[in-house]
Amino acid sequence: MKKYRLILLGPPGAGKGTVAKKIAEKYQIPQISTGDIFREAAKSGSELGSRVKRIMESGELVPDDLTISLVKERLGKKDTERGFILDGFPRTIIQADSLSEITSIDAVINFNIPREEIIRRLSGRRICSQCGAIYHVTDFPPKVEGICDICGGKLYQRDDDKIESIEKRLNVYEKQTLPLIEYYRTKGILYDIDSSVNPDYSMEQIGKILS
Ligand code: AMP
Repeated sequence: MKKYRLILLGPPGAGKGTVAKKIAEKYQIPQISTGDIFREAAKSGSELGSRVKRIMESGELVPDDLTISLVKERLGKKDTERGFILDGFPRTIIQADSLSEITSIDAVINFNIPREEIIRRLSGRRICSQCGAIYHVTDFPPKVEGICDICGGKLYQRDDDKIESIEKRLNVYEKQTLPLIEYYRTKGILYDIDSSVNPDYSMEQIGKILS
């Protein structure tokens, strides 16, 4: 049986989360989002959670060792046997090297999008506090303002989607994560897509890559 062990690589706001949910549904494999895992931890109120929350709000990265151990544990679960979608991981060369010791990867999808479009998208992004569905104030608004169409949950703006944090996250991406493009291109498993149009167009390109 064909396996889909995928990495979605790209700057914040490129649409990785939205597309990851669509791939998960289409190919019946789990989405593993380190950002989601950390946001859950931040909500828990534990000491570790509070530390993670402060780091996320600043736009910096959570330390590699903690991130790697969480992903390793998650990839050990049975539902990843047929594949998985890593969304937001790896983000540093150290994380990528550690990942290569845990599992093989079949394809790295590199999301390409101009910086000004990222800022427009992130500053208008809204998330459901209950089910995690993703909206946008103008591109993809809910039927009733502030309320999730799917579950009725309240929508909120992530603290790190405020303009000061966005700039910081983009700088962190360029410095720490951008080198991964060459890292995976050299391995011959990097596939570029244009993610500036919409999630359906991103899915169309990914469908062709995976077929
Ligand atoms: P995201 O939802 O992927 O934009 O992640 C939100 C925040 O979680 C990031 O700005 C980081 O602070 C943290 N985070 C997510 N994934 C990672 C990772 N692979 N390594 C370090 N920090 C991460």
